[in-house]
Amino acid sequence: MSIYYSKNVIGREALTYQDVLLVPQYSDIESRAEVDIGNSLDESLRLELPIIASPMDTVSESPMAAAMASSGGMAIVHRYNSIDEQCKHVESVPSEDLVGAAIGVTGDFVERAEELVKSGVSVLCLDVAHGHHSHMKNALKILRQKFPDFHLMAGNVATLEGFDALAEWGASSVRCNIGGGSICTTRVQTGHGVPGLQTIIDCARSEHAGDVKIIADGGIRNGGDIVKALAAGADFVMVGSLLSGTDQTPGKLLKTSDGNFKQYRGMASRDAQMSWRGRSGSPEGVSSMVPYKGDVSFVLAELAGSIQSGLSYTGARSINELQAKASFIRQTDAGQSESSAHILKRYR
Ligand code: IMP
Repeated sequence: MSIYYSKNVIGREALTYQDVLLVPQYSDIESRAEVDIGNSLDESLRLELPIIASPMDTVSESPMAAAMASSGGMAIVHRYNSIDEQCKHVESVPSEDLVGAAIGVTGDFVERAEELVKSGVSVLCLDVAHGHHSHMKNALKILRQKFPDFHLMAGNVATLEGFDALAEWGASSVRCNIGGGSICTTRVQTGHGVPGLQTIIDCARSEHAGDVKIIADGGIRNGGDIVKALAAGADFVMVGSLLSGTDQTPGKLLKTSDGNFKQYRGMASRDAQMSWRGRSGSPEGVSSMVPYKGDVSFVLAELAGSIQSGLSYTGARSINELQAKASFIRQTDAGQSESSAHILKRYR
């Protein structure tokens, strides 16, 4: 047995988003419009909004992909369908728009990748729960040979070692965080994981960071968490729950006397496993109904405003500048309580 120590981090403590705040700093930014929140996945792929929609069957099909692209972000179309169905989703996104698509690392992944590339996808995402794995090594080797210059996103990993391995095996970007998603039960079921912000802090120390992009994936609950993830070294965030319940997610609207809802479920939940493979092994996710939120473009516009405002509190006009200047402070439990609206708690 060994206790996991990140390079240059003393102690066993691992932090997540709620544990920290960014310390406000001198700013000469007069308007949010001066703040550029765009970032590049590589030399030819730039997003004006650093948000990527998760490859989940209650989040990303063609309506979400088109909406994400028109708001400056991107969606990864999920892989829990036939190759034909997935390609149709990709093809129905206007061609000038960026769209990604997920594949696995075994089975039909090579054929799926070839067809998706023919359909005009810009990013292939090798999408597995435990990416620091021999299957991933093999899949990245094959796909890197087939598509030498293509953007290959891969994951997920929880450690610097995992990030470095995927970078060395040929990934162009890596999804970082295991077990932090809002619908995820991996840590409960398996006892494994690393708090999400800590994973970003650790991976950002990689010598490959910068060349290989860091995608903070899962557990991001609001604009503030996005700003913290970017400040800690992420280039992009990947989100599911923040986009769930919108018009652009697949699935029907459930109308009840308590309001309207849509389904949002983990891809390893019992419910999802039954849909995509007709049987369920040990679940590592849950399925839930979330309140209906309307058009996703309003959600994205609000998040974009939060990120711009967040950068201006650090006095940063770009994500790079945020990362260079950011100063984190640890908050106590009482601090966490003070950090959210707490008027009602006074009257309990
Ligand atoms: P959220 O934004 O916190 O809702 O997290 C979304 C992320 O959770 C996805 O991008 C995946 O990385 C992850 N995820 C999706 N389905 C599952 C699951 O069933 N179990 C564990 N993690 C999941």
